[in-house]
Amino acid sequence: MSQPILDTFDRKHTYLRISLTDKCNLRCTYCMPQEDMQFMPSKWLMQADEIQTLAGIFVDMGVEKIRLTGGEPLIRKDVGQIIQNLGKLPTSLTLTTNAVFIDQFIDDLKNAGVRSLNVSLDTLNEITFKSITKRDHFNKTLDSIRLLISEGFVVKINVVVMKGINDNEINDFVRLTLNEPNLHVRFIEFMPFNGNKWEMSKIVSYNDLLTDISTQFEFEKLEGELQDTAQSFKVNGGKGTFGIIGTVTHPFCAGCNRIRLTADGKLKNCLFDTTEIDLLTPLRGGEDIRSLIYSHFHKKHFAHGGHIDFTAKEAKADYEQNRRMIAIGG
Ligand code: SAM
Repeated sequence: MSQPILDTFDRKHTYLRISLTDKCNLRCTYCMPQEDMQFMPSKWLMQADEIQTLAGIFVDMGVEKIRLTGGEPLIRKDVGQIIQNLGKLPTSLTLTTNAVFIDQFIDDLKNAGVRSLNVSLDTLNEITFKSITKRDHFNKTLDSIRLLISEGFVVKINVVVMKGINDNEINDFVRLTLNEPNLHVRFIEFMPFNGNKWEMSKIVSYNDLLTDISTQFEFEKLEGELQDTAQSFKVNGGKGTFGIIGTVTHPFCAGCNRIRLTADGKLKNCLFDTTEIDLLTPLRGGEDIRSLIYSHFHKKHFAHGGHIDFTAKEAKADYEQNRRMIAIGG
């Protein structure tokens, strides 16, 4: 086994997020602003065998958990094969998906040992769903969540909360967790990326969320791990949990263990760091990529790609140059 991937803050990187594609069947404006979106040509994408080789190298370097994401990972034609291949590695495997096509992959997921999935759903209202995603898949998404639960998977619903768009539904989402032990809701603070018209005033912050929820529920904070992205809570007497991913106002960088591989094989050491290195070309050239990985993580900033304040001018310039979330892999 190779040395672990450490940065200069002694953080060990054990969690790999692999984006399978930058394409998606939804058009969420905060993730994929529609204007001039250029998708990657297919020949730029990592092929299934290359994904397996890269994942194997990362596992050898200490990765214990792999998440497939995108774009929408389930629209990739060979995703079933990729899931099955990755399921053979000695890691836990999971996905972030909009779940629209999940019914086609239940067996692949089970065979690969996937137990828990993150499903994105920002609203419980069909009209709001269409206005956020520009697509009509609301009922299909709800059916998919029900199917996953009935098949024994743990489902974490990701809700990006935006002022004036879906912040009137926070407590409806919390209510979903009352009777279902395998359902967890995680509210995500809206994050800034290229072209997504982010403003601090559009965020519903960690504190705002807790204030709103406390008007309707009594809840307790749950113990977590330093590397957790979400602070978790449980409504008194409830069966599931809710959590808050407070990236902007409550960063969780101190325990960061995350590695991101974009669909075109670029390595990112932070969602907000615009520097990335190409692993796919050297891999295709037969080079040993381990030293590239170590040195990229040695340059990792402590937090947010080096930015403390997202509203600062330099931070804005940087996130406007960053990839869109859909092309990074959330
Ligand atoms: N297509 C899949 C899905 O819908 O879950 C996976 C990719 S999506 C980029 C992964 C996650 O990133 C989703 O939960 C999405 O809501 C979140 N996301 C995208 N843009 C975001 C933003 N600007 N702020 C916060 N979360 C964002």
